[in-house]
Amino acid sequence: MDSYRHKGLRNQLVEELRLKGISNLEVLEAIRRVPRHLFLDNAFGEWAYKDNAFPIDCEQTISQPYTVAMQTSLLNIEPKNKIMEVGLGSGYQACVLHEMGAKVYSIERHKHLHDKTAKRIHEIGYGLIRTFFGDGFEGLPRFAPFDRILVTAAAPENVMKLVDQLVVGGIMVVPIGKNNDQIMYRISKLEDGKIKKETFGHYKFVPMLPGTA
Ligand code: SAH
Repeated sequence: MDSYRHKGLRNQLVEELRLKGISNLEVLEAIRRVPRHLFLDNAFGEWAYKDNAFPIDCEQTISQPYTVAMQTSLLNIEPKNKIMEVGLGSGYQACVLHEMGAKVYSIERHKHLHDKTAKRIHEIGYGLIRTFFGDGFEGLPRFAPFDRILVTAAAPENVMKLVDQLVVGGIMVVPIGKNNDQIMYRISKLEDGKIKKETFGHYKFVPMLPGTA
């Protein structure tokens, strides 16, 4: 399943991410631990440790490692944080969050992708991650509030209503914008009920779509 060769390729990927400016050591160590080749279908297995996004089922993608590292860094995760992810996809990002010591709740709107990924992450030892088939625009009111929220699809402005499901002092990281260009936002919910917004450059994600499929 995992091999010295894969571990070696992972070490190289971590070095590449470091050179590209990822400095959070816990994030780099989490990426070093997650066997990314097990999240791609065989045809792409060889390419798992390149710093690229790749196609998965249902016309979706597994995020580029740099993007996973950036989003994970921006979350400022603290031990045992309860995190909601919107966009389970391949499950790779969810496993990186788990390796950061977080309690992960992840939502996916594609039934096929949800079921396939839930089975996969269970089989490879990430059974503590809780996955949900549903619409991320609704969040998970039954499990709210969350310390952190991570959106891994290109979201419209109305994604901001998810801030209601954050604790005071919580953080949401979300790429906001249309088709080919989104701005990465870090939204902080402050003690006095105010919202702080910071931006972190341009990214390209598949769209966050309403409803389920
Ligand atoms: N975090 C994933 C990235 C997957 S791409 C990974 O590490 O592989 C984004 C995912 O968001 C896709 O699987 C897509 O189906 C899902 N998605 C899009 N809109 C959604 C919504 N409203 N609710 C939940 N998931 C959504």
